[in-house]
Amino acid sequence: MDFFNYKNGRLHAEGVALETIADEVGTPFYVYSTATLTRHFNVFADALRGMNALVCYAVKANSNQAVIRTLAALGAGADVVSGGELARALKAGIKPHKIVFSGVGKTEAEITAALNAGIKQLNVESEPELERISAIAQRLGLIAAVALRVNPDVDAGTHEKITTGRKENKFGIEWTRAHEVYKKAAALPGIKAQGLAIHIGSQLLDLQPFREAFVRAGDLVAMLRADGLSIETLDLGGGLGIPYGDEGETDAPNPESYAQVVRETVGNLGLELILEPGRMITGNSGLLVTRTEYVKEGATKTFLIVDAGMNDLIRPTLYNAFHNIIPVIEPEKGQEPVNVDIVGPICETGDTFAKNRKLAPVQAGDLLAVRTAGAYGAVQASTYNTRPLVAEVMVNGDHFAIVRERVEVEDIIALDRLPDWLAD
Ligand SMILES: *Cc1c(COP(=O)(O)O)cnc(C)c1O
Repeated sequence: MDFFNYKNGRLHAEGVALETIADEVGTPFYVYSTATLTRHFNVFADALRGMNALVCYAVKANSNQAVIRTLAALGAGADVVSGGELARALKAGIKPHKIVFSGVGKTEAEITAALNAGIKQLNVESEPELERISAIAQRLGLIAAVALRVNPDVDAGTHEKITTGRKENKFGIEWTRAHEVYKKAAALPGIKAQGLAIHIGSQLLDLQPFREAFVRAGDLVAMLRADGLSIETLDLGGGLGIPYGDEGETDAPNPESYAQVVRETVGNLGLELILEPGRMITGNSGLLVTRTEYVKEGATKTFLIVDAGMNDLIRPTLYNAFHNIIPVIEPEKGQEPVNVDIVGPICETGDTFAKNRKLAPVQAGDLLAVRTAGAYGAVQASTYNTRPLVAEVMVNGDHFAIVRERVEVEDIIALDRLPDWLAD
């Protein structure tokens, strides 16, 4: 459920008309709803009631300071995957003891920053990384709390670019080596081996792969304990899918049934559970609002050419993702829908938001809202074609605020330098 609805024929984010924001901020822009973020976080956290669980919001889904701070105020921790995200989480007010650091390629500088900040744990993805962390911790005179990210070799059944839990993926320590590596970790100076972590993929619409992976993790916990090894935390990753409004799409599982799977598989192990939802929290909390520049009648179809492009929202071209796209002014009833392709201005055929979509007739100048754009939207934007990063706006009841300024073209160019042989 979200808080983007038509009121008097105008699409609103909570109490604010999107037209009002467009007039003030210009287009395109992302808009996030505080009420939706709050609702999604609370629904997820409430579903875990009765379990010793920490919800570490996966910052990579949407790392805007205002988004992280909204969630921090609700009690969220953070899952970060870079030094940059660590800095963002800390700056937004997430306490270090609620931060976990995931990712396959942590650099020396990132590990040092994490250890100096005193975060809850580093999720280690390989033996060389484990040795590096141990050495850095020793040098700093600290003990690094780590969990081993293991690869449960489970097929998440999701898009190939976002499946992470099969043995041929780059993530985690191979299942068959996990026991040995944990033992090694426990014996290393500078390391406190405190847990296991898994994360099998993103946008999962079926709970069965979660169940399989959690059961496997539980088995491994039992094996480690039988060997006299101590384990306190189990990080179950993120990945819960959400509805994008695609016709014929399988229903996304609700947080209650997901939590039930957690409860049944690993709820009674006496461990602190860590959950890392990203998309589930922010996906439906955001829209990308864009203006139609041209309506172009092609040889075989009609193109709506809009002012947002694949540099602003790459999901359709990167993952073949479906996004529901609706007009900001509610179409009058009884209008015959037309078949359109909705495309951006970029010189790439992949710059297509939707193909063969049925929409009420759209005129040049009309605003459109790309729904479910709050996760993996603004964070994956680039300045390709020297298109400035767009503004991000947050709504709270009847108020809105710019939470990231639109970047100026001059600021992009100003980062370039002419070498002395080219300077005047
Ligand atoms: C991306 C990621 C997440 C969040 O995934 P969602 O599908 O957005 O819930 C959680 N944990 C790790 C380790 C990740 O890489």
